[in-house]
Amino acid sequence: MRIGIFGGTFDPPHSGHKKYACEFIDRLSVDKLLVIPTCIPPHKEYDGVSGEDRFNMTKLLFSDVEKAVVSDMEIRRNGKSYTCDTVKELSQLYPDDELIFLIGSDMLLSFHTWREPLTILKYVKICAVSRESDITKEMLCRYVDEYFSENADRFIICDFSPIEISSTEVRNAIKDKKGTDFISDEVMQYIKEKGLYL
Ligand code: ATP
Repeated sequence: MRIGIFGGTFDPPHSGHKKYACEFIDRLSVDKLLVIPTCIPPHKEYDGVSGEDRFNMTKLLFSDVEKAVVSDMEIRRNGKSYTCDTVKELSQLYPDDELIFLIGSDMLLSFHTWREPLTILKYVKICAVSRESDITKEMLCRYVDEYFSENADRFIICDFSPIEISSTEVRNAIKDKKGTDFISDEVMQYIKEKGLYL
């Protein structure tokens, strides 16, 4: 089986996440996609909404994506969520399967600063896509050559067309009481019921 792993803060999950995930499933013939909201993201200051709320919203966003399963493994592990721990655990759960970890360009361009990047590459391939039109596929390939030339075969750089949106922009739009087209109705209803991001 080919299994995708999509980690993120998902604070909140938006249509950019979903489009990337769905395109990845279709174009790379993925059998199953594990969507894994982080507990505490190690790479950013975090005082956002609870893991439980982010998990629930992520489940709502991916409820109609047949091959996607939202996992609470990082939230259950508690503390900072390091990808090297997650992929080690998953490689034990799925020893005979191909594992591919999805990231956007912002995450790829800092991958050399992650904890144990070479351990991560031992267990999973990395699939990356540009999130913004001014970051080209060539720039991402150059990054891989510069930092990971010996493991370049562990990277898949895709040219799916992104939706240029971030959770930060969505949070700001909700706070400023502006509408946003980048959140599903179900997720928006959850946000309203819980009074999040105000
Ligand atoms: P924030 O604005 O709070 O930093 P974010 O929009 O970057 O959040 P995350 O949950 O941190 O969302 O992202 C999870 C993963 O999804 C990361 O690898 C990120 O690069 C990727 N990603 C986020 N938004 C997009 C998008 N619009 N297109 C493609 N990939 C995306």
